[in-house]
Amino acid sequence: MYALAVHGGAGALPRTPLSRAREAEYSQGLAAALLAGQRLLERDGSALDAVEAAVMALEDQALFNAGRGAVLTSDGTVELDAAIMGGTGLRAGAVALVRRTRNPVQLARRVLEDCPHVFLAGDAADRYAAERGLPAVPNEYFITPHRQAQLAALRAPFALAGAPAAAQPPPATIDEPPLGTVGAVARDHSGALAAATSTGGIAGKRPGRIGDSPVIGAGTYADDQSCAVSTTGHGEWFLRTVQAYDIAARLRYGGYSLEAAVEEAIMQRLPRLGAAGGLIAVDREARIVIRHNTPAMFRASVRSGEEARIHVY
Ligand code: ASP
Repeated sequence: MYALAVHGGAGALPRTPLSRAREAEYSQGLAAALLAGQRLLERDGSALDAVEAAVMALEDQALFNAGRGAVLTSDGTVELDAAIMGGTGLRAGAVALVRRTRNPVQLARRVLEDCPHVFLAGDAADRYAAERGLPAVPNEYFITPHRQAQLAALRAPFALAGAPAAAQPPPATIDEPPLGTVGAVARDHSGALAAATSTGGIAGKRPGRIGDSPVIGAGTYADDQSCAVSTTGHGEWFLRTVQAYDIAARLRYGGYSLEAAVEEAIMQRLPRLGAAGGLIAVDREARIVIRHNTPAMFRASVRSGEEARIHVY
C-alpha cells in the first residue's frame, strides 16, 4: 500500500477570486506533481524518491512559491529554502538562502545522501550544489513578472507616503494568490515514510530570513515510527511551535491518531496563537490527513488503488 500527498501552499484568497482558467492551471500543476511521485511509488520506488520528484515538479512550475516563480525578498531577489527527510533512520538534508541552484529540493537530497551535515545555507550551499554537478541558473531564472508586481504592490503604500492622493500610483494588481510553498509526504510499499518542503518564503521578506520549511522538525519531518509531515503557512509560528515534530510527538508519546493530532494542532492550537496555515501528513498505515485553518490550500493526494483527489479551496 502506498500513499502520497502534495501541497502548493495554504493562505488567504487572492483579492479577486481565481478565474476558472487559473484554478485549472493550479489543479493541473498539482496533478502533474502527484503523478510524478505516484509513478515511482507504483513501481516500488521509495518514499524519498517520490517526495523529491513531486516537489521538483512543483519547483519547476512558475505558478508556485518554490523554485521558479518564488516570491521576492525586499531587495527584489529570490532566496530559496528546502528540506527532505526519510523516516527510516531519520535521514535528513536541508538548505536555506539558495540563490543559484535550480532545484533546492534536489540539493537537499544530495545533502541527505552525500554530506556529513544536515543543514547548509547561503553561498556555501550553492557551491556544494555545483560540486555535486546539480544544474545552476542565474537568480533571474526564478523571478517572474507576477512576483515583481506582487512586490511592487507590497511596497506601494510606503513608496509615496505623505504624497497627495492624485500623485499616488495606481495599486499594482496581483492575480497571484498569496500562497504557494510546496511540499509532499509519502508512504511507500515497504512502509517507509518521507517528507519534503520547498519555498521562497514570505513575499517582501528581509534578505537572510529563513522560515520553517527547511528546518527539520518545524516545516518538515518524517519518522517511520510515527508520521511524515510538510507544513505551509506563517513560518515564524511553525518555527515557534516546532510544528511538524509536534504532530509526530503527539503520535509517539501521546497515543494520538494522526487525525486527532493534526486537528488539535491546526484547528485549535495554531488559531489560538493567531497562526494561519496548514499541513499534509501520512502515517505508517498509509492514512493521509490534510488540514488548514486558512480559506484556501492547494492540495492533492492519492493512495494505491484509489482515485486521486485535487482541491484548491
Ligand atoms: N511557511 C513558509 C515560510 O514561512 C511560507 C508558506 O508556507 O507560505 O517560509
